[in-house]
Amino acid sequence: MALKNQYLIDLLETVKKRNAGEPEFIQAVTEVFESLQPVVDKRPDLVEAGVFERIVEPERQIMFRVPWVDDNGKVQVNRGFRVQFNSAIGPYKGGIRLHPSVYLGIIKFLGFEQIFKNSLTTLPMGGGKGGSDFDPKGKSDGEVMRFCQSFMTELSKHIGADCDVPAGDIGTGGREIGYMFGQYKRLRNEFTGVLTGKGLTYGGSLTRTEATGYGLCYFTNEMLQANGSSFEGKTVVISGSGNVAIYATEKAQSYGAKVVALSDSNGYIYDADGIKLDIVKEIKEVKRGRIKEYVDAVPTATYTEGCKGIWTIPCDIALPCATQNEIDKESAEILVKNGCKVVSEGANMPSTPEAIETYLANGILYGPAKAANAGGVATSGLEMSQNSERLSWTFEEVDAKLHGIMKSIFKACDDAAKEYGMEGNYMAGANIAGFLKVAEAMKAQGCV
Ligand code: NDP
Repeated sequence: MALKNQYLIDLLETVKKRNAGEPEFIQAVTEVFESLQPVVDKRPDLVEAGVFERIVEPERQIMFRVPWVDDNGKVQVNRGFRVQFNSAIGPYKGGIRLHPSVYLGIIKFLGFEQIFKNSLTTLPMGGGKGGSDFDPKGKSDGEVMRFCQSFMTELSKHIGADCDVPAGDIGTGGREIGYMFGQYKRLRNEFTGVLTGKGLTYGGSLTRTEATGYGLCYFTNEMLQANGSSFEGKTVVISGSGNVAIYATEKAQSYGAKVVALSDSNGYIYDADGIKLDIVKEIKEVKRGRIKEYVDAVPTATYTEGCKGIWTIPCDIALPCATQNEIDKESAEILVKNGCKVVSEGANMPSTPEAIETYLANGILYGPAKAANAGGVATSGLEMSQNSERLSWTFEEVDAKLHGIMKSIFKACDDAAKEYGMEGNYMAGANIAGFLKVAEAMKAQGCV
């Protein structure tokens, strides 16, 4: 979908100038602007209120030094980030990414996406994101703890249960959240729901670990059913083998699908008989190992170096659950050629713009990340509610709420796409529905 609206073309030029050297952020804004063209025509009041100009500028960006001492007694220095993008509908909310590729542009793209995603969940959460170029891979628990404590020592000045509530993301799991929560509590001398994804013994929510992967399958199932199909008997390829990929595999299997492949940043495994998830969990969650170890336990499976090749495996449904821009035009074309009918995104922005064009041009059912993977943050929102109530809900209660939220997200995307004349384009629907709620709140609150 090309950008034709002159007002948005001019504004995008300003965004490009102001954010030079941040291609992921520009990519995210461009996609949203393309979807919002009919909104500009229909809602001159939002143009008048300067909502479009304001929504692309973060309310606040914090960058800081994170010094810590490694196991050899040597001082290491990383860079920390927190981008508080938009608080129109609630406290800033979004994960913390720990990965060597992290820089300001990655955090801004993720924070921008988070505004619309959080809006779609129906819960009162604004958009934010944080992270660091620290790589937890290969570090000892002691090193990870010292990094997390140093990171939180600065971050604690800027967050709070009613202001900004971070969570996990790539590289930030239960261990890291625990260390960060402990340091926050120690510095502030208060026990509050300042982070989500916490352990169950100190305020975490049941189902949070499973939420993004399960939610992805709940959303995808709605999309399939609305188009006369289902997971039953389908072959599924899932990239990544982290939190999202593991629980997407679990739920897809429970719906009767056969998941045949998983990956990490080194390569991918293929098991024609269907992935044995207990083995993957043992490797990834218990031993923190690499996905290639799977073939030691299952000799009939194969391991191939290089993660991109995973998209050459024929499948009915592809669920990218690793990282941004992992499916390019070439991979999208191979998916189409091999008969893939559905791409639904567990990772954030895993498809390049050219890949998305390929899906839409070939009638692939496309579930965009900001809708399809919103189950994680939705359940974080439910964790915040439980913390405020000082009560814990059962797994079944949280799971039922998550399921209901994912259904309502699909409906919101479907309805908005229809209302704005783009039936079946769930990306446009997600962007429009997510935007409108935030835009109304921004307009109502005046020029802030
Ligand atoms: P994890 O750290 O648990 O797992 C990430 C997985 O993706 C690992 O298998 C990792 O492999 C792989 N990966 C990371 N970077 C790359 C890369 N550059 N190329 C290939 N593979 C890579 O993270 P999550 O599962 O939590 O997150 C995965 C995606 O889902 C991210 O895009 C995240 O933003 C998104 N997401 C996560 C949510 C959550 O609740 N956790 C919520 C919503 C979205 P390796 O071990 O080799 O690095």
